Amino acid sequence: MYLAIRKLNVLGSVLYVAAHPDDENTRLITYFSKDKLYRTGYLSVTRGDGGQNLIGDEQGIELGLIRTQELLAARRIDGGEQFFSRAFDFGYSKNPEETFAKWHKEKILSDVVWVIRQFQPDVIITRFPTTGEGGHGHHTGSAILANEAFAAAADPNQFPEQLQYVKPWQAKRILWNTFNFGGTNTITPDQFKIDVGGYNPLLGKSYGEIAAESRSQHKSQGFGVPASRGESFESFKTTGGGAPVSDLMDDVVLDWRRVTGGEEIQKKVNGLIAAFDLLHPEKSVEPLVNLYKAIEALPDGYWKNQKLKEVKELIAQCSGLFIDATATEQFAVQTDSIKVTFSFINRLGADAVLQKIQMESFDSSFSQVLVRNRNLNFSKTFYIPGSKPLTQPYWLENKMEEGYFNVRNPLKIGQPDVDAAYTVNISVRIFGEPFNFSKVVTYKFTDPVKGELYEPIVIVPPVVLKPNKEIIVMTPENSKATVELIARAFKKTTIPGETSLTPAKYDNFVNFGPSAFEKNQVKIRQYTFDAQKNAEFIIRIGEIKDSLNKNKHEIKYDHIPYINYYTIAKYAIRKVDVKIAGKKIGYIIGAGDKVPDALEQMGYDVTLLTDKELSRNNLQQFDAIITGVRAYNTNEWLNKYYDKLMKYVNEGGNYIVQYNTSNFISSIKNKIGPYDFGITRSRVTDENAVIHFLKPGHPVLNFPNKITTEDFKDWVQERSIYHAEKWDKDFESIFSMNDPGEKPDEGSLIISKYGKGFFSYTGLVFFRELPAGVPGAYRLMANLIALNNKKAF
Ligand SMILES: [Zn+2]
Repeated sequence: MYLAIRKLNVLGSVLYVAAHPDDENTRLITYFSKDKLYRTGYLSVTRGDGGQNLIGDEQGIELGLIRTQELLAARRIDGGEQFFSRAFDFGYSKNPEETFAKWHKEKILSDVVWVIRQFQPDVIITRFPTTGEGGHGHHTGSAILANEAFAAAADPNQFPEQLQYVKPWQAKRILWNTFNFGGTNTITPDQFKIDVGGYNPLLGKSYGEIAAESRSQHKSQGFGVPASRGESFESFKTTGGGAPVSDLMDDVVLDWRRVTGGEEIQKKVNGLIAAFDLLHPEKSVEPLVNLYKAIEALPDGYWKNQKLKEVKELIAQCSGLFIDATATEQFAVQTDSIKVTFSFINRLGADAVLQKIQMESFDSSFSQVLVRNRNLNFSKTFYIPGSKPLTQPYWLENKMEEGYFNVRNPLKIGQPDVDAAYTVNISVRIFGEPFNFSKVVTYKFTDPVKGELYEPIVIVPPVVLKPNKEIIVMTPENSKATVELIARAFKKTTIPGETSLTPAKYDNFVNFGPSAFEKNQVKIRQYTFDAQKNAEFIIRIGEIKDSLNKNKHEIKYDHIPYINYYTIAKYAIRKVDVKIAGKKIGYIIGAGDKVPDALEQMGYDVTLLTDKELSRNNLQQFDAIITGVRAYNTNEWLNKYYDKLMKYVNEGGNYIVQYNTSNFISSIKNKIGPYDFGITRSRVTDENAVIHFLKPGHPVLNFPNKITTEDFKDWVQERSIYHAEKWDKDFESIFSMNDPGEKPDEGSLIISKYGKGFFSYTGLVFFRELPAGVPGAYRLMANLIALNNKKAF
């Protein structure tokens, strides 16, 4: 509270700009927000959809949803505010030209300008330079956009359609926060430096300690970091506006003098600071109310609005006022009802009277004195109309493009999170002045292990549908497709409708059929059909005119709130001309991927091998053992089995290792294969990169499937990552490939014979291609598995 009162006298703001969740300098953000008390923002141009996932098997937009929440969790710790653009993280990009082609540069530039015009930063800071030392094309792209937006935001001729909502804004300067990481040192002695390693006695923490807590929220990226203490310098190179001489905010007025009539406010805040009683913050409530009225009387403007929000928050905190609006069920079902409990307590006894509660169409007036430290609770049940929008992140509402999300409402752009299902407006009169507190209604429950938890409320339809597999792979030996249609009801309901599961004659709809459901009942119907060709089927339930067809997806991790989104319930048939040899596969899960599913669809029996299973199973029963992505990075115990696995290979087994990383997540201490090889960070990111076959006669290209360049058509996102290097002469390299303008790389797949068996290391992204139903990936995987099959030789 004391820090927040002091912040009332600081009228300055900084916006940090980079490309991905985890690019941001959390120590610098912490320092700005908690030491300098600036309004501090981070604009992450993307949501990090294209990265890798260390904690689960989510990829693409799902990973973007997780990383969005990780950023919000980080900001709750370091005090920054979070913004995004519409840009989609389509995966690694080696240069900004490719990045801009996919993003549609003007669109994303307009988003950056929009965030700047709304946030009105005095200083803009980029993580990366425009000159490429940041590596990733998205990184360089984010810096180019920020520097162009620095000028464009001030130019009324640029993006004039925004000017009905915001004004042009000229930041004082833009700087690049130079760095020394990843083997690149861009810090030079002539750059402007500040020490951000201070200690905040009010918080009892160093900024480096808070920053580490914030950074460690990027759990999907394995970015847990130790706390740092002691002096720590950040360096800056000015790329626009006048260079700073003594302070980053040189030439910026940082107090109430920047607002007409603000001098009086400054004096009032000084009085509040001087009189603040740590044991009795409630004594500050009345002067804060007076301050609020004084700020309200100022002419309209950015800082007036900002400071009113801050003062209101302080009034609630200093009076110990607790307002909660919660439900005991997480899912609010369309055409059902939700019971919301409102709780109030005025813990320090400021003069407070509850006046009004408004939520949806409910609008009720009170004149209830909030007695010191006495709970006041009451509940109200709300009907949820069928027209209440389902809880869906706004950027996923419309079909997306390859490089950006389609957002119809321009006012949403920049907004980090999904809209809350319900918000309640509560009016409390404090020392005679009415204050409106807006609260999100949340689901509150107590977990016997974790304690009291709050989660978002999710609007759901009465029934949701899901296929057991979204892509059904059909092989030549298997022309009958079986799909399970799974319906889950959130309320007791009877759904009328067609009876047949057969697709309707003129479209590709499959109807679940009429059903009566109890609340939370799940029903499954199995449907077998002849799959003649590639096709897509939408699953629905109910009468055609008002049928339901939503597939509800949820993502749950302890460090972030519950995530929900919907897609249309559907499944696709993919005919893949693949022959397989061998039957039993052992799969060692790494960071998590959907390869085992795909293997089962191909007709293999897959056994998941954990530490325990590896120790007690006779490995010879497996025709192949495959490690999931980053298995050696995530499973320390895998190293114990080196001898056992090599013995398995030597005696005729087949061990296939998918990519592991060589970075700081965890270095690979022991050997992986029978002969030496290294792992690099080399990758081929062009999913259409030309593939040269180095060993056309090798069995992996011939048995049981003849692999041709056709098999490298329609790959998604990229070809191969974390290539092998410096391999022993006993390895054979199978492919050569490269991104445009780069030299050929032969490390995407290396194979060695060892004893009677085979060992392969591959960076080829089977974990992306198999779930996407790419036929060539299936055929190549089948051949890798068939390497030790006797019929081949
Ligand atoms: Zn990045």
